[in-house]
Amino acid sequence: MPLSVWGYLSEYEKERNDILEAVDSVFRSGQLILGDSVRSFEREFAAYHGVPHCVGVDNGTNALVLGLRALGIGPGDEVITVSNTAAPTVVAIEAVGARAVFVDVHRDTYLMDVGQVEAAITPRTACLLPVHLYGQCVDMEPLMAIAARHGLPVLEDCAQAHGATYRGRVAGSMGRAAAFSFYPTKVLGAYGDGGATLSGDAEVDARLRRLRYYGMEDTYYVVETPGHNSRLDEVQAEILRRKLTRLDDYTARRRAIAARYAEAFSGTALLTPRVAPGNTHVYYVYVVRHPERDAIIAALKRQDILLNISYPWPVHIQSGFAHLGYGEGALPVTEELAGQIFSLPMYPSLTDAEQERVIDAIHGVLAEL
Ligand SMILES: *Cc1c(COP(=O)(O)O)cnc(C)c1O
Repeated sequence: MPLSVWGYLSEYEKERNDILEAVDSVFRSGQLILGDSVRSFEREFAAYHGVPHCVGVDNGTNALVLGLRALGIGPGDEVITVSNTAAPTVVAIEAVGARAVFVDVHRDTYLMDVGQVEAAITPRTACLLPVHLYGQCVDMEPLMAIAARHGLPVLEDCAQAHGATYRGRVAGSMGRAAAFSFYPTKVLGAYGDGGATLSGDAEVDARLRRLRYYGMEDTYYVVETPGHNSRLDEVQAEILRRKLTRLDDYTARRRAIAARYAEAFSGTALLTPRVAPGNTHVYYVYVVRHPERDAIIAALKRQDILLNISYPWPVHIQSGFAHLGYGEGALPVTEELAGQIFSLPMYPSLTDAEQERVIDAIHGVLAEL
């Protein structure tokens, strides 16, 4: 089988007994929707982040949608974010009827260039949406200062940054609310879809709970504001509870793999990730950069090693977002990166031997370029 960028099949072989026991315990509990497993997971995930409230939802995109709605964002509002992100960040902004406004990213970390945010604020700006992309946090202190100065709420997109820290604070504990995805490949992944929204604000939390449950209070069959059906599944919650106890171990393994790559490619033309001062990185993806990216990917494919690009097409030049009015050239750093970045295999169950195969293959290609 080709060596892939993702590893949940090999993880499943290791954890199969635990996963199947989780599934069986839910099926036998008689509670299939919003039962003990979701409630316990919400408590445990909130505690992991030192945040009072967590609402389990059906996926990361809807964690953002509900987060935006709970913060009062809707039609006519502008949300400042980045184009170098997974499209769902922007899909969620569109889904609530708001408009995405993009700033460019830093040349060294590929994350939101916070220095450009203030100039992008208009009277319609209603929210700042930093994306902690690839596994490390945006420069949150200056961003929170801008938010405070302009009275704007911050919604953190933490879909790629479970457990990452910024100056000692964990991703998801800094904004008014934070959205997580448990898509199977994520740093904390379910065996299917899942998501969660964290908030330190009891009123935001109460709105989130209603929004994920048609707009109702749990036990009261009256809708004041029509919501969604965006519940986290009980089976996925029970699997996530068990995997949450192993999250720090998974991350330690990701960091060991990252350190080995960094050592192997230091002094070569392949640029390895730069961790911003004050950040700890959880390496959801291990994004490297080389001007001959396509040649490297093609050469490794011939050796049955599949590499991925996160992301080859910046959101602002995708046809579905043409109405936002950004053309090519609007975000030069984002566009330049999109032509040069690619990701090396990175997941806890990647073996040392597999990683050596990847390293040897890339050294071979680099020698020939
Ligand atoms: C994965 C991801 C999402 C969406 O999560 P889903 O669970 O797939 O809906 C949103 N934002 C970012 C940055 C992501 O990586």
